[in-house]
Amino acid sequence: MLHDFLPQHHAFRAHVRSFVEHGLRPLSEKWEKQRQFPISIFRECARQKLISLDRERNGIIAEELPKCESLGFALSVFVQANLVAPMLEELGSAAQKKKFLSPLLRGEKLGAVAVSEPSAGSDFAALQTKAQETRAGWRLNGTKTYITNAAIADFLILAARTDPVQGLQGMSLFLIPVSSNSVSIKRLSMLGLDTSAAGEIILTNCEIPANSMLGERGQAFAYVQSGLNRERLFGGLACVSWAQYSLDKTLRYLQGRSAFGTTLNRFQAIRHQVADMHTRLQAARQLNYHAFRGWLQGENVTKEICMIKLFSYQTAQSVVESCVQLHGGVGYMDQHWCSRFYRDARALTIAAGTPEIMKEMIAVFLRI
Ligand SMILES: Cc1cc2nc3c(=O)[nH]c(=O)nc-3n(C[C@H](O)[C@H](O)[C@H](O)COP(=O)(O)OP(=O)(O)OC[C@H]3O[C@@H](n4cnc5c(N)ncnc54)[C@H](O)[C@@H]3O)c2cc1C
Repeated sequence: MLHDFLPQHHAFRAHVRSFVEHGLRPLSEKWEKQRQFPISIFRECARQKLISLDRERNGIIAEELPKCESLGFALSVFVQANLVAPMLEELGSAAQKKKFLSPLLRGEKLGAVAVSEPSAGSDFAALQTKAQETRAGWRLNGTKTYITNAAIADFLILAARTDPVQGLQGMSLFLIPVSSNSVSIKRLSMLGLDTSAAGEIILTNCEIPANSMLGERGQAFAYVQSGLNRERLFGGLACVSWAQYSLDKTLRYLQGRSAFGTTLNRFQAIRHQVADMHTRLQAARQLNYHAFRGWLQGENVTKEICMIKLFSYQTAQSVVESCVQLHGGVGYMDQHWCSRFYRDARALTIAAGTPEIMKEMIAVFLRI
């Protein structure tokens, strides 16, 4: 828990924990079976003050919300609270905030951040989507893919090339309502995270007014990096807490499962494995807290955040994977929570930056 530097937030954590336990967890299996993002529940989350721009509270929500047992839902909510909303708050004009941010915070609208393309994921400079200046504004053409929440979004924050400069320059962000006929969105079927409504977006001569640009022209790379930093930081808090929850649940299973005349938790091989996982999660948690504290105080912790994306996410993924092994056959069954967690966990080292890219970034910081 972050209580060592957030004592004033105890009551809020207790409120979120209770809402997650009683208001969300009993429903999450239904959303997962239906493979649907529950929009009415998102509105309820907003009513419960879970969609906000308060950074400390969002840290608490990041730790508590995944315990609803739908990581897809939790990650979708984090995209709204820790990516879409802060980008609108920091970069939006008064009119853009009124049109998009206020309804988002009330749970009435959802956004998606569309950067990745079929031929440009890790390699941001390879972006192909083009925004051409017209007399009335901009005309966009291109394809975005793997976009979280695309299939349920009301609007997109989308990166496109506005200037013929090669590399990381010459790209800008746009706010695009999805209602237009020139925006077509196809839901994508994934290995896990079924409730996150990921999709592919095709823009065909999509005309938008001049005031649709978000922030300054040519600054998309810097804006997206700053947004990704925040997403990786809050995602680190979330995935470690979620893996701990998975491990705690697994330990209860081990204490009740008999074999060879005792319960599984009495075998040294298993006790040591659980002790090892607890230790690695604690190390990851402390790395997260260290960066989170620095970030709250306004320090530049980008290197530490890359380390979180590298170490904490991998640790969470491997703990969840081991939970399946510790359950034996039942953990491999399709409908068992453990096999679903395992599928969801696989995305942790792909979405929002891979370990290979994080190592490259850390190496740059280390000047090696
Ligand atoms: C569940 C999920 C949700 C997502 N949500 C969003 C979203 O909301 N918005 C969005 O814009 N994108 C989203 N993405 C896309 C995601 O950010 C990209 O998939 C990710 O950045 C990797 O890019 P890529 O898929 O193009 O893989 P590639 O860049 O093609 O990489 C393929 C493999 O090659 C490795 N690789 C690439 N370059 C190097 C290198 N220089 N050195 C060593 N290895 C390298 C990678 O690490 C990876 O293992 C999501 C993806 C997933 C799976």
